[in-house]
Formats: sequence, C-alpha cells, structure tokens
Amino acid sequence: MTNQELWQTVLAQIQFSVSRANFATWFKNTKIYSKKSGEVIIYVENSFSKEWLANKYSSLILKILRSLEKDIKSIKFLVNSEKKPSLNIQVSQKEEKIESPQLILKELTVDQKTNLNPCYTFENFVVGRFNELTQAAAWAISENPGFVYNPLFIYGGVGLGKTHLLQATGNRITKLFPQKKVKYILCERFVSGMVNAIKEHKIANFKKELKEVDVLIMDDVQFFAGKEKSQEEFYHIYNLLHQSQKQIILSSDRSPKSIPALEERLKSRFEGGMIADISIPDYETRIAILKTKCEEKDIELNSEVLEYVSSNIRTNIREMEGALNRLIFFKKINNKNPDLEIAKKLLGNLINIPRKKTTSKKIIQTINEFYDLNKEEILLSTRRKEIVRPRQIAMYLLREELNESFPSIGRKFNGKDHTTAMYSCIKIAKEIKENDELLSEINLIRQKLYSGLIEEK
Ligand code: ADP
Ligand code: MG
Repeated sequence: MTNQELWQTVLAQIQFSVSRANFATWFKNTKIYSKKSGEVIIYVENSFSKEWLANKYSSLILKILRSLEKDIKSIKFLVNSEKKPSLNIQVSQKEEKIESPQLILKELTVDQKTNLNPCYTFENFVVGRFNELTQAAAWAISENPGFVYNPLFIYGGVGLGKTHLLQATGNRITKLFPQKKVKYILCERFVSGMVNAIKEHKIANFKKELKEVDVLIMDDVQFFAGKEKSQEEFYHIYNLLHQSQKQIILSSDRSPKSIPALEERLKSRFEGGMIADISIPDYETRIAILKTKCEEKDIELNSEVLEYVSSNIRTNIREMEGALNRLIFFKKINNKNPDLEIAKKLLGNLINIPRKKTTSKKIIQTINEFYDLNKEEILLSTRRKEIVRPRQIAMYLLREELNESFPSIGRKFNGKDHTTAMYSCIKIAKEIKENDELLSEINLIRQKLYSGLIEEK
C-alpha cells in the first residue's frame, strides 16, 4: 500500500467510529506526510486540529494503523504549511458530499404515514433455502392481506432480513392496494409511545391510530418481554384487528415460545397463524446477496473479494453489508475497486474477531438478558422452571465456549456439585440434536455473545 492508500484505509475505518460531523471536521485535509522507522507523521490542517486529534484520536488512529502494518510504532501530527492542494484535498472538496455509507445505501425516505422505507422490496430480497418459505408466506400475504396467514410471525437471528421482508411486504401491499392503510411499527416504539401516552393521558388517541389500520406490521416483538401494560394494550388492538380480518405481521429474534415474560394469551395469539423462520444463508446465497448489493451500489468486486467476504462473514447479512460499505468508501475516495489485498486490510478487524474473547461473566450476563432474568437469579439454587433451563444453557455455554471444567462451572452456580454441571451440559448437548428450536435459540445467544466484540477495544 502507498501512504495515500494506507491513510484512506485508516479514514475508511475511522468514519465508522466517529460521527459524520466529527469526521468531516477533524479529518479533512489530513494525510500521511511520512512513514519512517515505525513513525508515521500525519499532516493536519491547523494547530487546533492537531491538538484535538492528538488528544482524542491518536490511540484509535495508531491502533488502526498497526492493524494494517505491524511495524508502525508511533504517530505524530504536524501542521501542514504547504499551500499546494494535496491529493487529499479531493476529500475536502467532496466534503459536503461525503455521506456515511449507510446514508448512501438507504436514503432515509421513510413514508410518514406508513413508516415504510421504499428501498426495501421483494425485488432486492435474495431468496435461498434459508428464507424461501418465509419469503413465500410474506409474498402470499402481500397478494391477499388478511386472508392467507394471520398473523404471520417471522423469527430469526439479527441481521438476517426480518425487517427487510416486513417492509417489502408492506410496500407491496401499498402498491397493490393503495386504499389499504398499512402501518409498520417497531415494538420498541410502540412501548415507548405507550409510556408517553399514559403519562399524557392520551392512550385512546394512541390506540385509535393503530386500530384503524388494515395491515399492522410490528417488528421485534421480543421487546414486549416484561412490558405488561404494553402487552395488555396490544392484546386488545390485536384482537380487534384480527377479528375484522385485518392482516397482522410480526417479527422477533426468537420464536413466540422463547420470548420471556410474554403473557400466555399473547403467546397463543402469536402462534395462532403461521410461524416462519429465517436461518443462516449458505455460501452460494451469501455470494448472490453480495452480488445484488454490488449492483445496487454500483461497485464491481472481483470474485476473490466476494469469496473472501462470503467465507468470512457468515451469520449476519447486515455485517456483510457493512463490509461492502467499507469497500465502497474506499472506491469513492480512491476511484478504484479494491482488490483482495486491500479488502483484507480494510476488513481485517471486522473479520478476525477473536472467537474466544468472551468471559464467563459475559456468558451469564448474556443469558440473563436473553431470558430477562434478574442479575443474580440464575446463580441461585432455585428450581423454578424459568430459571432451571437458562441455567442449564449457561452451564452448557461455559463448557462449550470457554472449555471450563465441570467443578469450576458447578462452583459458579452456588457451589453446585460437578455432576450437576455435567448433567446439564450433556442434557443440552443431547437435546440440541433433536430440537431445532433449541439449537437456534442457543445460536442466537451465541450471536449476541459475540456481536459486541467488534466494538470492544
Ligand atoms: P433483521 O431485521 O433480521 O435484523 P434486516 O432486515 O435489517 O435484518 O437486514 C439487514 C441487512 O441485510 C439489510 O440491509 C437488508 O437489506 C439486508 N438483507 C437481509 N436479508 C437479505 C436478503 N435476503 N437479500 C438481500 N438483502 C438482505
Ligand atoms: Mg430488524
């Protein structure tokens, strides 16, 4: 890599860690002045930027530089007194137009009434074995809302296309049936809207809007866990809509059965129509998805780069898209398509996630969050059903992910005997083989366990 490429690579990564405004303010007109015996000197625009960058960003910059070139040991900032515009001035001239890749990607043209983003369509939704049933169900609903499956409950891990599919369905319904009122709402929004409505004594108004729709799409309903009042209000809205054959489409990161602290009556409603899951795309489908995105974003990547991304990012389409955005950013600035070598450098810290970087504390914390348990509950000796199961899974994960010994696992759980730990691990390992739902539940916990690690410094 030339110094210029190296610096553009650093910038491409930094802009994921800082806000757009900060990026434009502090990094415009920066470039590498020299790189000698492990020291990189970076030209900055003025002494104010110099001080700011040195205080706030030097460790981040150094860290990224070192991930790209191991022998870099230190960095220095120098005010650039050159008058002549440098190559990097291109960045500054384009500065107004530099958009964060997410913005380029999906312009935020969300429709105010429906909350739908027209960028999500069936046309740009790639279908493979991992999602074909679910896509077919959603498509069928869009042809005949209210009369096919009601509700349709879609579940699957993070970044696998639930929101895309929900929105695509909503968009298609609005197109085919312009007179129908469609409303997409995030469960989290519903819950916070509810809280505000209660405070301001406006519940009736809040509910009225939802009761009048023909198609209600609610995303991420696992967020209902433990929100009793919201569940109750939603239950009534749900019944009213369902009785008048209005279509309801729901999504969640897990099956209705696995949502903790969800009232039985809602659970059984959610299970009353069609439940369809989205699993993980296989290699070929991942390539197909990347190709579609490349076309959409007008970038050409050679097959080596596509293969590199698809074989290294497997369980999350959103992360694949994040990787692609970095490559696009590189292209935008350097005006050339990144080759494999550049891609490896650009994506290194996305891809080489240290798999075993988790801790027992983190496992227990993740289990607690997943099953909505209080902090220490899982460690106690209670035999309550809603605790026993998560505790067994926690033991299983301690063993699988950290290879902890049975006695040590036992000790963590209120001094339990090692045979208890062993029994739990064997039991879960055996059940996983027969119970796909449990397997996907545990995979989802794993995904949550490791998903935060990218940001962890
Ligand atoms: P989820 O809601 O399941 O967390 P999203 O629907 O937000 O995931 O998907 C994450 C990203 O991946 C989105 O940008 C979406 O467009 C893209 N994506 C997901 N599944 C597909 C697919 N089958 N084809 C094309 N793009 C997809
Ligand atoms: Mg989503």
